[in-house]
Amino acid sequence: MRIVADQDRCEGHGLCADTAPEVYDLDDDAIVVLRHEVVPPELERKAEAGARVCPVAALRVEQIGAEP
Ligand code: SF4
Repeated sequence: MRIVADQDRCEGHGLCADTAPEVYDLDDDAIVVLRHEVVPPELERKAEAGARVCPVAALRVEQIGAEP
């Protein structure tokens, strides 16, 4: 799976990085940065959990190979 981050939407709450620091980081402007665009299998559950807690829905989980 892969994560798509909408950095225009991100408001820098940091909940994603608190929940899954292995997947999400914040840059100097407190905007989300992905550590892995393609998430390794062992981090998929954490990546999903981090995406779910985003209060502005800036993170989208996509299954690679799935139809859009
Ligand atoms: S939880 Fe959402 S708004 Fe907050 S830093 Fe992460 S992507 Fe941005």
